[in-house]
Amino acid sequence: MIVLNDINIIQLKGVGATFARNLGKLGIESVYDLLFHLPFRYEDRTRVWPIGGLTGGDTVQLQGVVESCRVVQSRRRSLEVTLADQTGVITLRFYYFNAAQIKAFEKLPVLRVFGEVRLGRNGLEMYHPEYKTIDPDDAPSSDTLTPVYSITEGVTQSKLRGLCEQATKLLAKHPVKDWLPASLRERYAFPEINHAILFLHYPPPEADVSALLAFKHPAQQRFVFEELCAHNLSLLRLRHQFQSHHAHTLLAKPSAGRRSQVEAVIDELPFKMTHAQARVLREIFSDMGSSKPMLRLVQGDVGSGKTIVAALAALRAVENGHQAAIMAPTEILAEQHLQSFSQWLQPLGIHVGWLTGKVKGKKRQALLEDLRSGHYPVLIGTHALFQDDVAFASLALVIVDEQHRFGVHQRLALKEKGAATGYVPHQLIMTATPIPRTLAMSAYADLDTSIIDELPPGRKPVETVVVSEGRRQEVIRRVSLACEQGRQAYWVCTLIEESEALQCQAAEVTFNTLSESLPGLKVALIHGRLSSAEKARIMLDFKEGITDLLVATTVIEVGVDVPNASLIIIENPERLGLAQLHQLRGRVGRGHQDSFCVLMYGVPLSSNSKSRLQVMRESDNGFVIAEKDLELRGPGEVLGTRQTGLMQFKLADLQRDAKWLDEVKDAGALLLKDVTAANAIIRRWLGSKVDYAEV
Ligand code: ADP
Ligand code: MG
Repeated sequence: MIVLNDINIIQLKGVGATFARNLGKLGIESVYDLLFHLPFRYEDRTRVWPIGGLTGGDTVQLQGVVESCRVVQSRRRSLEVTLADQTGVITLRFYYFNAAQIKAFEKLPVLRVFGEVRLGRNGLEMYHPEYKTIDPDDAPSSDTLTPVYSITEGVTQSKLRGLCEQATKLLAKHPVKDWLPASLRERYAFPEINHAILFLHYPPPEADVSALLAFKHPAQQRFVFEELCAHNLSLLRLRHQFQSHHAHTLLAKPSAGRRSQVEAVIDELPFKMTHAQARVLREIFSDMGSSKPMLRLVQGDVGSGKTIVAALAALRAVENGHQAAIMAPTEILAEQHLQSFSQWLQPLGIHVGWLTGKVKGKKRQALLEDLRSGHYPVLIGTHALFQDDVAFASLALVIVDEQHRFGVHQRLALKEKGAATGYVPHQLIMTATPIPRTLAMSAYADLDTSIIDELPPGRKPVETVVVSEGRRQEVIRRVSLACEQGRQAYWVCTLIEESEALQCQAAEVTFNTLSESLPGLKVALIHGRLSSAEKARIMLDFKEGITDLLVATTVIEVGVDVPNASLIIIENPERLGLAQLHQLRGRVGRGHQDSFCVLMYGVPLSSNSKSRLQVMRESDNGFVIAEKDLELRGPGEVLGTRQTGLMQFKLADLQRDAKWLDEVKDAGALLLKDVTAANAIIRRWLGSKVDYAEV
């Protein structure tokens, strides 16, 4: 039997070595790959729209006569062509054009154009539409929707369409197997797979156009579901493989009637752990007590008290005679952890090691030596912890704070750090940025989740006000007033400059003007270009109340804990993501007094930004904010670039297709029962380059 996987793309007519290589860049190596390179959207050239009825945002085909054509010089030189039909007028704008084009337009021809309509200052416009001159009596250009494929250099839409014609002929003779179990297909009334493939490459004239354009057609949703399943399965398979290794079994260690060290620290805390903290700690300890490596994500809103939970988990590893490593994304956050951990663990005689990129030379050598000998049961630091030459005597637990900056593969590679002992470390991931459910489903399906859904008692919500920068003087008076009453304040400069040097310069300017306007106050400046010693000193002064007002770049986003600070001003908050704003705002409201956050935006403010700031004013719930952020900005922006590499879907769109996420989760267990099918689905959507064998 011939399978389409075995028919190399080069066997198709018109495909030479170069073209085959270019197709390879799209992940297309066989006829099978080509058939599953499905259109990710369609263009509607089946009808001509009346210009009069258009609104911004539509992508449409129009037909009309050119009424005028002129080169205009506003901010940029452009060619402006006016196109009219019986119902209205639209401007076609070209920033790149040549003399021949102008000449052709000057003949005032009848054009058929295709493009996206924008509503500009001068009415309806299209930038660089596709266009051709036609005979007014020509029939409409197409009676079916035009598929749009993802393409790359050397592979055009029309070439792909040509190939698909050959491929679908082969498909008719050698149908592909449907790996989805019949029970699922029936439950969702998915069309037959071979039919669906053909349908999507060549939607027939009678197809439901609006469903296809909206990507809601059952044939499309079928593959969306399959693709989401593939991603989910690959994460579950990773988890499965990871957990086939052994981890140290870490149990409570009370000795001869004495408390365990974990209990001792809990008893000495100046506060009582919240129910949520205690519950999450139990969940963690239950995982750590197993020889299966833990893979657990702890989510907790800003200030929910994740640090003590992490420290107690580390202590459990230590009292079992092993080591724990804690990695933070920034030096400031790592320093904060160092302080907290030391405060809790030093009294027990536990040494806490420190390693960042700035620890070098002899100091570093000595530290590495002490890690190998086990002198440091706990190590805290940044990414530098996981450089190749950092080896442990017996690493039993890895804690990663703020994991959204850290990909799945990087995370799983940490298992190597336990390699010397033949055990892999347990993994605990902590995130203060609540992860929207939709993202958690797809990016963190390999993790168990614990949520600290309770704040320590006595916290008051931070009152948030949104003002324009025109009210700066008023805001400055407010700072002055708060500080006169013995409170402290943050002033955060969010800057657009790419270069760190320029950012710091700009913060310096703000610092200088604020120092001038507030002569009675002690003002300090902190930014990323300072040495860690300087940063530590500035933070300490602020913590001890020596400084009244701290002007900062966004370096204070995480890890700063000064309960007496009750006011935070954030300049140009519209430049930041909501999760980040929520983090920043979490710097206040840590004490018992009323706290305020002033979001001072620049004008003009777009309507999207306006709604985002509105969310900040109305909610202090990190999860609600994260969901809104996702809605308003999309997953790529929310997760940051590092993570998006993992989130590249061919067809699925997490927001549009959110309704599938729960279904996919349910399907996972079922699909994993048939290993061949599961692997085939993963291979179909993630390609052969995804090799998890090493995990
Ligand atoms: P986050 O979850 O944002 O990392 P932290 O761990 O930094 O929060 O905790 C914030 C502050 O709350 C710290 O000063 C910490 O000591 C304190 N804290 C933690 N748990 C409790 C609790 N149960 N009761 C009172 N204060 C607590
Ligand atoms: Mg924290």
